[in-house]
Amino acid sequence: MALECSLSALAALDRDDLDAVQALLDACTKALLEPSLWYWALGLTVACALVGALLGMTKGRWLWGLLWGLALGPIGWIVVMLSASRQPLCPECAKPNPAGLKRCRHCGTDLALAATRSSRSRLRDASQSRNWK
Ligand SMILES: [Zn+2]
Repeated sequence: MALECSLSALAALDRDDLDAVQALLDACTKALLEPSLWYWALGLTVACALVGALLGMTKGRWLWGLLWGLALGPIGWIVVMLSASRQPLCPECAKPNPAGLKRCRHCGTDLALAATRSSRSRLRDASQSRNWK
């Protein structure tokens, strides 16, 4: 009869019977070295890293997200989601946009034009448009 590695087998074990202890140890070692267990662990690790990378892409830091997801799994995802974005902020609505975008995807401001204008010139334009001279 093959011994099964389980908590009930451990509870029922006669600790003075060294052959039984060795048999249970061998059964548990064999269960831990089962390749399918390691394939599952490797697959879950890769999946956690990929989800972390996807979450990191929303913050403009995919590698950073990949490493957090790889190291901590779902806890790393939370770290990535709570982190500050590295994407450039729109000067008009202050929301993050991916680098290289021409228009803000939130308010439609021309980002290239807005980058050339200073905050002082924007204030001057705003006051002139309201006739506050
Ligand atoms: Zn905007």
